[in-house]
Amino acid sequence: MAGIYVHIPFCHSKCVYCDFFSTPNLTDADLLIEALIKEYHRRAAELTDKVETLYFGGGTPSIIAPDRLARLCKALPLDDVREFTIEANPEDVNQTSVRAWRDMGVNRVSMGIQSFDDTQLRAIGRRHSADDARRAINCLLDGGISNISCDLIYGLPDQTIPSWERSLTELLSYRLPHISAYCLSYEPGTALYAKMTAGKIEPTDDSVLDRMYKVLCKATASAGYEHYEISNFALPGMRSRHNSSYWNETPYLGLGPGAHSFDGVVRRYNTIDLKTYVKTADITVIDEETADQRFNDKLITALRTSDGLDVSTLPADRADYIIKACSPFISNGPMTITDSRLRINEEFWRRADAILRELIVV
Ligand code: SF4
Repeated sequence: MAGIYVHIPFCHSKCVYCDFFSTPNLTDADLLIEALIKEYHRRAAELTDKVETLYFGGGTPSIIAPDRLARLCKALPLDDVREFTIEANPEDVNQTSVRAWRDMGVNRVSMGIQSFDDTQLRAIGRRHSADDARRAINCLLDGGISNISCDLIYGLPDQTIPSWERSLTELLSYRLPHISAYCLSYEPGTALYAKMTAGKIEPTDDSVLDRMYKVLCKATASAGYEHYEISNFALPGMRSRHNSSYWNETPYLGLGPGAHSFDGVVRRYNTIDLKTYVKTADITVIDEETADQRFNDKLITALRTSDGLDVSTLPADRADYIIKACSPFISNGPMTITDSRLRINEEFWRRADAILRELIVV
């Protein structure tokens, strides 16, 4: 199987924590659609297997008028697609958009709602209210799209553990097939980071984040969700097929500015600059990974999942290396090895980056 990712770099406005490239200026939207079609035709031969997942991400793909998206869909290979996801923000979800998305083949919507507390939403620059999110979920369900994933963030400014619990409990009450939950990060270059360095905002204490993470793990497990990746939770059988393919090295073609591709051997990166992209629709960088980089990529992706890393699939020298490197973590509790699968235990996933830094080959 293979997947296609399409990057749409437009957003209505900038959320204060976001360090992705996006622009509110839709002037180039038509040019972008034409360039995406052109890029797909030029690179279609890179896909050697049937395309089973299609993902429109961003940015905010739901900002694009459905007729423009439909034009793009007509050029893409939809025949074997089993999961077609569009990322949406609540303010773009209405009866008309839901009908149009369904008509073009979308069967899954991933929506950023982040919190059910309006004060917290305003503090991070979200344009929608908690009521908008509630209305959008119901609109999708009424419109026949039940495969919904919603994102929440914990560690928001002034968010307490009880208020985090309230947002989580409300989201779980919808019993959606999939939930993503992220810890707020302060990325250099963002408005949030600037506020922090100016002393206007205090990041949430690590001990509070640990407790929020525990609340998250416990509540989702009690509700029957499988915690299958650091930030992702699914009801049985409802893992994101597309995102899982990133973590299990399935080839995917990434179209659009800033999109990445992986053909099973080589990673490619498109130019992030929208103006350059629409002019050239060309690949600017081909990353010929070294064997060590490929090994590190495999470690970093596999050990962020509940499936872990199957060391029996590694060459003997790599397997010996990783088992030795992990042995202190296995002895002390953060990791386990069972039936040749190495895993970081769920309670240590919040520390996964620090553990992975010790494991990668430098
Ligand atoms: S909507 Fe998403 S991509 Fe756009 S600015 Fe906000 S967080 Fe970033």
